[in-house]
Amino acid sequence: CGIVGYIGNKETKEVLYSGLSKLEYRGYDSAGISILSDDGLMKTFKSVGKLANLGGIIKDSEILGHVGIGHTRWATHGVPSTRNSHPHNSQDNKLSLVHNGIIENYAELREGLKNKGYKFLSDTDTEVIVHLLADNYTGDLVESVFKILPILDGAYAIGVISSEEPDVLVTARKGSPLVIGLGTDEKYIASDVPAILEYTDRVIFLEDGDVALLKKDEIKIWDLERNEKTTEETKIEWSL
Ligand code: GLU
Repeated sequence: CGIVGYIGNKETKEVLYSGLSKLEYRGYDSAGISILSDDGLMKTFKSVGKLANLGGIIKDSEILGHVGIGHTRWATHGVPSTRNSHPHNSQDNKLSLVHNGIIENYAELREGLKNKGYKFLSDTDTEVIVHLLADNYTGDLVESVFKILPILDGAYAIGVISSEEPDVLVTARKGSPLVIGLGTDEKYIASDVPAILEYTDRVIFLEDGDVALLKKDEIKIWDLERNEKTTEETKIEWSL
């Protein structure tokens, strides 16, 4: 039950893995990452058990990319398994999503999506979110996030990326925590400050119901009614 995300010039794989390792204290049963590689492909790696298992898988793979998301899962719906672990991707593998929390109305949403022809690869409540996003996606990720959030009941913090928009990382939260880290030409997201504190002490705590669009050199935050908000930066005065 931890989220990390990164967009910037560092090696994304290292940033995600290091961030996840600092969220281990929150407890988890499996872990995974997605990186949009520089050749335009969404590359997703998952493993059950210790984070080191995921580390073993990604250690020797060349995954060069400049935007990515990572997750440690604490299963609520669907047993701990590789296929139930996050990230979850759209059928065309363009969109990749991590989620903390519980979608209460997932069964009903799942039925609707199945009737539209979507095939589910996991038993999680989370997977409905990525198919809903794909169903509403027309090349503008934050737009599709705004469209689907009102139909989700329950708690969420999400991070989502698209192979069509390599310069964009979108995040949103309601009921689950999410902090944004600010750097020079880079942005981070995380469930909690320790995940990013080695890289930056400048953060923005997302408020309940907020949606944020992150680019290397830009940040926009809205409330659920789509009113743009002024961003309030906090300087973290403690260290690990
Ligand atoms: N409810 C989701 C699942 O079971 C997310 C769990 C979490 O927050 O780690 O996959």
